Amino acid sequence: MAEDAETFAFQAEINQLLSLIINTFYSNKEIFLRELISNSSDALDKIRFESLTDKSKLDAQPELFIRLVPDKVNNTLSIIDSGIGMTKADLVNNLGTIARSGTKEFMEALQSGVSDVSMIGQFGVGFYSAYLVAEKVIVTTKHNDDEQYIWESQAGGSFTVTRDVNGEQLGRGTKITLFLKEDQLEYLEERRIKDLVKKHSEFISYPIYLWTEKTTEKEISDDEEDEEAKKEEEGEVEEVNEDKEKESKKKKKIKEVSHEWELINKQKPIWLRKPEEITKDEYAAFYKSLTNDWEEHLAVKHFSVEGQLEFKAILFVPKRAPFDLFDTRKKMNNIKLYVRRVFIMDNCEELIPEYLGFVKGVVDSDDLPLNISREMLQQNKILKVIRKNLVKKCIEMFNEIAENKEDYTKFYEAFSKNLKLGIHEDSQNRAKLADLLRYHSTKSGEDLTSLKDYVTRMKEGQKDIYYITGESKKAVENSPFLERLKKKGYEVLFMVDAIDEYAVGQLKEYDGKKLVSATKEGLKLDDETEEEKQKREEKKKSFENLCKTIKDILGDRIEKVVVSDRIVDSPCCLVTGEYGWTANMERIMKAQALRDNSMGSYMSSKKTMEINPDNGIMEELRKRAEADKNDKSVKDLVLLLFETALLTSGFSLDDPNTFAARINRMLKLGLSIDEDEAAGEDADMPGLEDDAAEESKMEEVD
Ligand code: ADP
Repeated sequence: MAEDAETFAFQAEINQLLSLIINTFYSNKEIFLRELISNSSDALDKIRFESLTDKSKLDAQPELFIRLVPDKVNNTLSIIDSGIGMTKADLVNNLGTIARSGTKEFMEALQSGVSDVSMIGQFGVGFYSAYLVAEKVIVTTKHNDDEQYIWESQAGGSFTVTRDVNGEQLGRGTKITLFLKEDQLEYLEERRIKDLVKKHSEFISYPIYLWTEKTTEKEISDDEEDEEAKKEEEGEVEEVNEDKEKESKKKKKIKEVSHEWELINKQKPIWLRKPEEITKDEYAAFYKSLTNDWEEHLAVKHFSVEGQLEFKAILFVPKRAPFDLFDTRKKMNNIKLYVRRVFIMDNCEELIPEYLGFVKGVVDSDDLPLNISREMLQQNKILKVIRKNLVKKCIEMFNEIAENKEDYTKFYEAFSKNLKLGIHEDSQNRAKLADLLRYHSTKSGEDLTSLKDYVTRMKEGQKDIYYITGESKKAVENSPFLERLKKKGYEVLFMVDAIDEYAVGQLKEYDGKKLVSATKEGLKLDDETEEEKQKREEKKKSFENLCKTIKDILGDRIEKVVVSDRIVDSPCCLVTGEYGWTANMERIMKAQALRDNSMGSYMSSKKTMEINPDNGIMEELRKRAEADKNDKSVKDLVLLLFETALLTSGFSLDDPNTFAARINRMLKLGLSIDEDEAAGEDADMPGLEDDAAEESKMEEVD
């Protein structure tokens, strides 16, 4: 018999997951079979891949298969595969002691009702779905590098692992035996199993055999009876019928029971069939089996490339982003590579750029060598051509989605970040990807607009495309930067996704028109008459002194002070250099610096203060500064204006308390409340005066 069992405790989260699976009511238990078959298929993929470079890996069991064995005597269902198997260490780690990142996420999704149990495979914990139907599970497994081991558990906190010395030897692979709960015996029925495989596992590319029972009736004569009786003793005949004795005393009918392996998945790969012969449901079924998704795909593209190079492919866009779309620990890649129908690998980075990592599908090449290794893939020219074609087809597919507004909204919500990443990284396809972008704008209302539509709405004489970046639509739509542009009727795009900063930095232009930031220097509207120009020049002159005074007060908090072209109502705003960071970028980088200490400190943007000469406050300031350069109230007002402009321009305050103190003093002044004794010497604006200590603190703010 077996050696002594070693007992292990399930890792805490896995343990929680198990009780959740066992104790919560789910009607959709049947998915366990799909999950276990899918694991078998993965294990077969792995050994087949290894065997491509080393044939001897298959020696212990040359055939690749999945077998299902219902046993009505013991109420067990076994799923057997000749896959890669697990070593003892694999068993301990994979089935119980190391939780996948998805374990917790899955439980949260289950408990919040966002997902149901059928989504388990997406979270990488599909094995545990066995406990939906089984009270006990035994995993017998043999890996080429280790002995055969048995894992066993009835959940309840622990499992055991034992070396399997005397058991039936698998050669290589894994046998999962489910001891079915009393009310789950339906999974022993042939019909039920066949239907399930058809429904969920039709496209598994290994043969799935079911151990079936056939009963045939056979007539035998009396003479033969003795022999049959003998056989019965040997257990081959279950039952002897002694009816019809009237008709023939010499003949008897017996039922003979035989067993055989019946192949229950006969489909040829769907990508080899003609697209026009495949129904939407068939694509959906294939998509689900490929991805473990419980929802149908949003879009599909099935095509073949012929000529110098030949391959077939089916690409899918899912309806939602996966929960870990931008998890940097995990490289997303969902294209399975086949070579002449043989599965090669499923995370081939060379096949599709990172930004399209959410696209799922298969590629089957006629040209690649079967024994291709990962290292070879990196420089492979064929693969480069395939990749180029896949990107092209993906973009075509996205454009097809865009023909249906509702679908595109879904798509854009889920994957706009990927498109923007593409704009940032894929210079070759940048222009095509730009067509797929959508933004809110000063004119789009609740809808999103494309750049193409923006261009059709451009005013006569408008040369550039204007945009503003910021934290949210709310934060930018009333920004002072937009005042003049709005007044002129120029549309401004709201770019409020962090990644927009990066994308627009690369995009630079669309349809020959420059993309211009409303918050940076160099916003020239070039639309004034000579007379207006002259008037403005005069105004500028009259404000030169104030500009200088402000710069003196603010010091190196700002680069310079100029008279603005872009604001109409607000007194002033802070713009950043044409090639420097915007306020929004500064916000993003600050957030990253906080998150990631290795970055050290962030670089802050160089700011230019633009003042509005037509604003009453500025006019009054100008007068006061002219009258007395050292007017204390001027200094206070300038600081207050600066801090307010930081906020309205999308920057953050390094020291909100000083700002708040200043505002509070203003309030007291407005309410004519006397400041307490500590202040008080300044005749002009006592309420705005700081005591010396606070003043010097303020100076250090930047
Ligand atoms: P996933 O399959 O998504 O990784 P599971 O919980 O279903 O998560 O399985 C955990 C791990 O156990 C797998 O990654 C694999 O390493 C191993 N495993 C499960 N089933 C098998 C099998 N039939 N053959 C070999 N390894 C398996």
